[in-house]
Amino acid sequence: MVEQTLHPQEPVSQSLVRSPVLGSLVGAVAHTAVCWLALQLDFFRGGEDLFYQIIALVWVGYLAFAGCFALGVNRSFKDTSMTVPIMLWATFSLLLTAYFIDQVRLCVMVMFFAILQPGVFRLRFPSFLLISGVCVGFYGVIIWRVSVHHPEAIDMTAELIQWAAFTLITAGVVMVAAEISSIRTQLARRNGQLAGIVERIQEMAIRDELTGLYNRRHAVERMIKIREMAKRNALDFVVAYVDLDFFKKVNDAHGHHVGDEVLKMFSALLKEKLSGRDFAARLGGEEFLVVLVKSDLAQGMGVADELREAVTELRFPSAPDLRISTSVGVAQFSRSESLDQLLARADDALYRAKQTGRNKVCAATEGSE
Ligand code: GH3
Ligand code: MG
Ligand code: MG
Repeated sequence: MVEQTLHPQEPVSQSLVRSPVLGSLVGAVAHTAVCWLALQLDFFRGGEDLFYQIIALVWVGYLAFAGCFALGVNRSFKDTSMTVPIMLWATFSLLLTAYFIDQVRLCVMVMFFAILQPGVFRLRFPSFLLISGVCVGFYGVIIWRVSVHHPEAIDMTAELIQWAAFTLITAGVVMVAAEISSIRTQLARRNGQLAGIVERIQEMAIRDELTGLYNRRHAVERMIKIREMAKRNALDFVVAYVDLDFFKKVNDAHGHHVGDEVLKMFSALLKEKLSGRDFAARLGGEEFLVVLVKSDLAQGMGVADELREAVTELRFPSAPDLRISTSVGVAQFSRSESLDQLLARADDALYRAKQTGRNKVCAATEGSE
């Protein structure tokens, strides 16, 4: 059972403050004070020695929890806040002392509501119900045991009325916890849905809808980073403008839907050919950009030519006789130029590829160093 957990990276001091262990130590002081008062007023059956033994046992438990947090041992548990074990220990401590306190037993037992308080927000409802049930049940058992072994120390009618009141109030708290638990479940579900929607919106913001390739804006953002990195580390990178040849004719002859299919299949080919940090983007219409990181002009020309070749071999289910080709302009980044200058050189190279017959790859003129 996983209860609410603290962040695993949280510093120990911070997790100690936010954990129920600090609250439980405060509660333990209050509990000890009430028991001590009961002892002073002769309500503690069993005498002083037993009182100190029981209180020592109770504190050993609380200090063990505090030690777990101080040493970070709690981090090895699924629920790093250790809410359930701490609540169980606190409840056990109350019940143990309640057995020995006559007449003002309820004064000790009402502290159970303070124990329940952090659980209302932290625990899953079944755990909360279990701890409440255990406490109410054992409170009843205590009354029964005392009535059997120390009948002179108990006013059964008063005890039962107090127990019934305690049970009713506990049931009320349980109902509130159930409500909060269902609100938490709904919130968690909506948070999950929202996270999914945000993820989808983020994807939509960077991708072209038809092809799934990056869009122009995202491609530019990436290239700005790549350019910075290339300048800093004296690395090469290459951009290639890719344009489908006579694409208008594809639409005219086969229809827009076949044109879309061509764009999708061409994009799938681009994705297949690129790996690592290399990427492709659709700049618009039938114009694409390929960015090859850590590549020089010769490598870029090689990849572009392979791509050009592969495009001529593409076949389309909706138009089996259709053949397409691409023209490509490749430019290698030169350290002193801006992104616009680099892209303009690639565009010029593409223009030359178009002018000199299409279905070819042209290298850009060298950029100024
Ligand atoms: P060139 O070889 O000179 O590049 O000629 P082209 O016909 O490929 O170039 P042009 O710029 O004349 O035509 C591009 C066509 O691309 C025109 C437009 O209808 C089509 N187009 C742009 N976006 C889409 C799209 O999303 N789907 C489809 N099917 N066609 C598109
Ligand atoms: Mg074209
Ligand atoms: Mg074009």
